[in-house]
Amino acid sequence: MRYDTQPTASHFINGAYVEDSAGAPIDVIYPATGAVIGRVYAATPAIIEQALTSAKAAQADWAARSGTERGRVLRRAADLIRARNEALSVLETYDTGKPIQETSVADATSGADALEYFGGLAGSLTGEHIQLGQDWAYTRREPLGLCVGIGAWNYPTQIACWKAAPALACGNALVFKPSETTPLCALKIAEILVEAGLPPGVFNVVNGAGAVGGALVADPRVDKVTLTGSVPTGRKVYAAAAEGIRHVTMELGGKSPLIIFDDADLENAVGGAILGNFYSSGQICSNGTRVFVQRGIKEVFLARLTERLKGVVMGDPQDPEVNFGPMVSAAQREIVQGYIAKGAAEGARLVCGGAPEDRPGFFLPPTVFADVTDDMAIAREEIFGPVMAVLDFDDEAEVLARANATEFGLSAGVFTRDISRAHRMIAGLEAGTCFINSYNDAPVEMPFGGAKQSGVGRENAKAAIAHYSQLKSVYVRMGDVEAPY
Ligand code: NDP
Repeated sequence: MRYDTQPTASHFINGAYVEDSAGAPIDVIYPATGAVIGRVYAATPAIIEQALTSAKAAQADWAARSGTERGRVLRRAADLIRARNEALSVLETYDTGKPIQETSVADATSGADALEYFGGLAGSLTGEHIQLGQDWAYTRREPLGLCVGIGAWNYPTQIACWKAAPALACGNALVFKPSETTPLCALKIAEILVEAGLPPGVFNVVNGAGAVGGALVADPRVDKVTLTGSVPTGRKVYAAAAEGIRHVTMELGGKSPLIIFDDADLENAVGGAILGNFYSSGQICSNGTRVFVQRGIKEVFLARLTERLKGVVMGDPQDPEVNFGPMVSAAQREIVQGYIAKGAAEGARLVCGGAPEDRPGFFLPPTVFADVTDDMAIAREEIFGPVMAVLDFDDEAEVLARANATEFGLSAGVFTRDISRAHRMIAGLEAGTCFINSYNDAPVEMPFGGAKQSGVGRENAKAAIAHYSQLKSVYVRMGDVEAPY
């Protein structure tokens, strides 16, 4: 190991690392080898209490500062993250197994973008003035208060920052619980925020499994819950938040359609399908895993895809030449292998991949199924691994109806050279985040989130401000009050 992966302690609360080894031990496993590279302890009730108490206490003073001052801290943190991108990317690779080729450009950097963007916005958050004849009203944009963030394991640094940046910009405090599978990265973000000048307690990280998240969500002091996770977990967390009528943001799963018309630029369409299925070994919520290819170009599409997949370099994800890493855990690989077996059993044609690699770690090669039909499990359920399902279609109306025939609605993409058709299709697709002649771009300036069961609320962009603040309306009468008696 050329990097220290054991964190100083399991939790970061009130500006410092805190340990309580009475909690259940959680081994941190490097997905590329299966080796244990660290250990943390799940938060005990005492740790959860410390985290919530200190966040609650710190929030009012943070909110009382000017937006410019809050923004300065976030932008300083962004600079520190960028300056330490290399070390943070190495850590992200140990935490998740994603290749350093990816983590060095997509994780800490994306977190820094969010902190810089919302740091820039913080000073311009305002209410409005509404003239009402002689009288007038105004609105104050106020923070929600104490927020709880719960993250998935695929992008631990990015998820922590995508939640912290808008929450903190608006004057909230945030207690964040990473996935127990990837407990390392968020602790570093907490450390950096404090170094950048964030007052202790405004951003706390507690580690632990679902039960820790459950305890945080149910606490009456919590004003908002923001989750990135699966639909089943979303359902539970949403219901628990509803008990206290708390605000929610739900970033959940998907089974998104990527529609390739026969007039599309083939190289770009194949590139989009590769990015939208195999980046991060397919462990991306917005992936376009139902690839609808217009019948006439199906075989040429599959041939070119297979050819380009020969460029996959699997191996030690810390090696800069490697472009395809392992799955995050043995358990996740097992789930995905189960789907591969189902795909074959249900009659889909295996074009490539399918069998696990004979090497240590949780590797599974890019797997492509063709001749997939809408009723197959691999076309209906989120797999969250490197499995692409290619489906045939004939015309626009048919593919639109089939693309929408799902309870999910996270993302959708269209490849075509016909611009009218592209926009017509996007208007008809039931998805929150869409792409034309591209796939999976997620700049911080663009709102990100899901429709239907894929989510509630939006992350990133100005849209996120509405989900981390509330308006107070104030009516101001300038004349006398006329009461009937
Ligand atoms: P899970 O839904 O299993 O877990 C998400 C988080 O919720 C974890 O930290 C988990 O803890 C926690 N959790 C589980 N149960 C509860 C509970 N009852 N109360 C509170 N918290 C709980 O998702 P995964 O981690 O397996 O991530 C994969 C899923 O995330 C996929 O469905 C993917 O689509 C989705 N996702 C969505 C994104 C989006 O922006 N829309 C982005 C990335 C992923 P623990 O696991 O530690 O037990």
